[in-house]
Amino acid sequence: MRQKDRKAIRDRRKVRPNRKKPSSHIVFARLNKNFIESMSCRLCTGIIRSLVESENPIRIQKMGDKTLITKLAIPAETSSYQEITIEFDDGSAHVTAVCRHCSGKLSNDMLEELYVTDLEQFERDEDEGRGPNRWDKLLTRVPTSYKVNK
Ligand SMILES: [Zn+2]
Repeated sequence: MRQKDRKAIRDRRKVRPNRKKPSSHIVFARLNKNFIESMSCRLCTGIIRSLVESENPIRIQKMGDKTLITKLAIPAETSSYQEITIEFDDGSAHVTAVCRHCSGKLSNDMLEELYVTDLEQFERDEDEGRGPNRWDKLLTRVPTSYKVNK
């Protein structure tokens, strides 16, 4: 990734300073940094993904008069998880997630804040080998409207 593109992301962030640190809406597991433990809405910090107990146990052990039931903790969307599609001035679109409450009242400033946070995530992804991204396209488009996905 070119320095020029990194700077373009920083410049966009400066125009709209984030209320939270760029990556703080995602909490990674302590033992496995690729495992997402929870995710919060970037606008209000409400939890939109978290770990829940698996329905079926993976092991049941009888220990005397007690029974030990072992279940998995699996990441799942909470009831307030909401995907939206941000629409851009060049006719392109981008799907991202916020909470159900915030999804009903997003200004173009909020859409820009969400998009800049996603650009910062794309940058981290590319740094970790998940790329490359089309920065010439990603960095020049501006959010103009959005739709709440079904
Ligand atoms: Zn929210």
